[in-house]
Amino acid sequence: MSAKLAVSGGEPLLKRSDFGNWPVITEDDWRFVNEVMDSGIVAGGTAPQVTALEREWAEYTGAKYCLTTVSGTSALHMALAAAGVGPGDEVITSAFTFLASASCAIHQNAVPVFVDIDPRTYCMDPAKLEAAITERTKVIIPVHIQGLPADMDPILEIARKYNLFVIEDACQAHGATYKERMVGTMGNVGAFSLNNFKNLCGGEGGLFITDDEDIVSKGSLIRCFGDEVDEVSHRRKYNASILGYMYRNQELPAALTRGQLKHLDANNDIRIANADYLTAELSRIPGVIPPYCPPECKHVYFMYNVRFDPKAAGVDCSPRRFREAVEKALYKEGMLVGQWQTVPVPAQDLFQSKLGYGGSSYPWSVNEDKGIKYDYSVDNFPVAKELCDTYTVVHGIHAPNGRDLMEKFVGAFRKVFDNLDEAIAHADDEIYPGADGKLYGAG
Ligand SMILES: *Cc1c(COP(=O)(O)O)cnc(C)c1O
Repeated sequence: MSAKLAVSGGEPLLKRSDFGNWPVITEDDWRFVNEVMDSGIVAGGTAPQVTALEREWAEYTGAKYCLTTVSGTSALHMALAAAGVGPGDEVITSAFTFLASASCAIHQNAVPVFVDIDPRTYCMDPAKLEAAITERTKVIIPVHIQGLPADMDPILEIARKYNLFVIEDACQAHGATYKERMVGTMGNVGAFSLNNFKNLCGGEGGLFITDDEDIVSKGSLIRCFGDEVDEVSHRRKYNASILGYMYRNQELPAALTRGQLKHLDANNDIRIANADYLTAELSRIPGVIPPYCPPECKHVYFMYNVRFDPKAAGVDCSPRRFREAVEKALYKEGMLVGQWQTVPVPAQDLFQSKLGYGGSSYPWSVNEDKGIKYDYSVDNFPVAKELCDTYTVVHGIHAPNGRDLMEKFVGAFRKVFDNLDEAIAHADDEIYPGADGKLYGAG
């Protein structure tokens, strides 16, 4: 006989106090942050913490140049601007990603085009990439999703064939590798986010890396209003030579990032160990599909993604309803599970309405007025759609959490999967699974 599920009034297996907080703050964070407070220098494009972080991230990734930015989104936008993307151009990205991988194109007056994902890796499917390319395509933005590198070799080959610029959205994959190559260094530019959830955290912030001297000088101009700097005196000329933005980072986030960077590899190793343990245990439960990592990749598990298959679990239930039932039951057991993206990005209202600047049809109308149509029907992205129906994210695999908590996670999965009929009976209960805003500071 198995215990009564928490979803039908039984005792939950986990408490919120079982979960440790992310990010993990150490002496290194205090030391660098105190340096800022002691120096009295809190900002500036060439201020000490910002400059040191740029040097250290270039060293860590092996890139020639690094610029810090206010966010991952601004790093992506800077890259598009530096690549010379403009009105009427098309930018290709993955259908399963965060909005910013696509909205950065709109911010540059370009049109996002989506490619469906590979059913095992959830990254852009290179086999479907070529069909999305037109004479207007300028850039491909592969996304290293949830910590797993995209299949870069075929993507880079197609980019070379069509002479396209490649911006890696590495916002979820600090330290991940593809065939021993660091993510962010395979395309023309790599963009990273430093927001509070990410594997490398500065509170907020971003990093832009490249080996291209011309792109880094353009990026640097764009980051600070497009305002020229005198090469001899290092003074700003207050003459904008090109259109720029205000995307400079500050000393406190840069200092915190430097402290966190000292522990990035160790913290990634903890995520990997926790994920490997969960994968080994959960793959023994029929109906649970743990994440897949191809042998040539190092996955850094920004998110631990689990899919559910009612048929394999031996129950007669639609895949979407089954996922909702299991997710709600796990959540009531005290697990922090819940969906991240609920639909493929092109299914969001912004793309369905194609209403951009000021509620106008711009930037799409630049091309649609010439008879070119953009079809964002979700049916064009069946693999991403199916994933969104059937997955959930298991939160809490980050440091300082370890084996004890992972064993409780497995216990909760076993309890729910031993009582599936009971869980399904509660599929329509008003329960709202997700991460706990108080724990993760999501607000
Ligand atoms: C977090 C994230 C971004 C944006 O980063 P911000 O720092 O929040 O602007 C972009 N792309 C992906 C895939 C992300 O996960």
